[in-house]
Amino acid sequence: MTDMNSSFFNKRKILGIIGGGQLGKMLLQSANTWNIYTRVLAADKENSPLLNCNEFQFGNLQDFDSVYNFGKGCDVITIEIEHVNIEALHRLKKEGVIVHPDPNALQIIKDKGLQKQFLKENGFPTPDFILFTNEYEILKAIKDEVLRFPFVQKSRTDGYDGRGVKVIESIGELKYLMNLASVVESKVNIKNEISIIASRNTQGEIACYDAVEMNFVKGVNMLDLLSYPANIKNSLANEAKELASSLIEKLEICGLLVVEFFVDMDNNLLINEVAPRPHNSGHQTIESSDTSQFEQHMRGVLNLPLGSTALKIPSVMINLLGEEGHTGDVCYENIEKCLALEGVHIHIYGKNQTKPFRKMGHVTVTNSSLPEAKKRAQWIKKTLKVISQS
Ligand code: ADP
Repeated sequence: MTDMNSSFFNKRKILGIIGGGQLGKMLLQSANTWNIYTRVLAADKENSPLLNCNEFQFGNLQDFDSVYNFGKGCDVITIEIEHVNIEALHRLKKEGVIVHPDPNALQIIKDKGLQKQFLKENGFPTPDFILFTNEYEILKAIKDEVLRFPFVQKSRTDGYDGRGVKVIESIGELKYLMNLASVVESKVNIKNEISIIASRNTQGEIACYDAVEMNFVKGVNMLDLLSYPANIKNSLANEAKELASSLIEKLEICGLLVVEFFVDMDNNLLINEVAPRPHNSGHQTIESSDTSQFEQHMRGVLNLPLGSTALKIPSVMINLLGEEGHTGDVCYENIEKCLALEGVHIHIYGKNQTKPFRKMGHVTVTNSSLPEAKKRAQWIKKTLKVISQS
């Protein structure tokens, strides 16, 4: 092992984190536990100054100069969001700054088209897909019978949380097509959606958490609740872990790689998409696992021994989203009632303003019985409301 790791504890070395949202905030909580010196580049002036970091810079994450100037004095840089100027990361790496995830891997991952091609070329299972430049090419492919209904159109870049994804079932729905560069996949008959959080350090040590099961609100691509561990056969969970391990190795990523899978009706695993950073599907590891996903990411990027991914207690996680019809200064209705329940862990991200469906926090409910945790999480969902102050 290089001496870089321990020097983070024994000398003042700088860990740069690009992005100042909730993932950055929780990453900083782990960094603070070890008193790691941190510098954050964030785009959002409203909430980021509240971040508990040693140095803060405000700037456009897509702009070469702001990312390059931010990174110049850092020893190691990591990200909490993929939409970052990649040329600046390549330059910083060339000049000796350690960048995790590696800019080459990030470049592939942040474009869903390149990501899908990489998976296919390397033999990883994915839904069938075709790349298109605009909607007219899609219409022609339908006419030529190269593309059949139903299918799913995804923007190659800038999509997240279901934005930039359109499910097209029939001719009548073609009006919803987006006129942009996209990946078009055949629609999978999904039995379960699971994710595996894999981690790796420079030594090539790899560790995976148990599979997480994600349930989405029907019709909208919005996470309803997440259960941990997933209620799937061990053999399937192990197969998913093996795929995630070989993918993190192939991409030579240090830190986390979150791999989202579809399980189809015949129990085939298909990779939906990957993220080289902490992820919404790993928040429950804070209370449920020996090592949280945030600490594990730090271990990976600082080249420290990976932590145990052992399950301490099962859990169910729900996001706290802004209520529909509420925009303005935030108010958490009935939060005291929820805090009174055993095993309820409430995380508030500190965003001052709520708006419909904005992620304002999350709640993890731990319980030795997963069905009981689910029952309580559902009650919290009905009870704890993120509204605006009247
Ligand atoms: P995002 O990056 O915005 O989260 P995803 O690619 O994960 O977008 O798609 C969002 C959701 O849309 C998935 O969780 C899944 O429920 C549905 N979906 C995406 N691709 C397919 C597909 N090929 N077949 C069926 N459903 C899909």
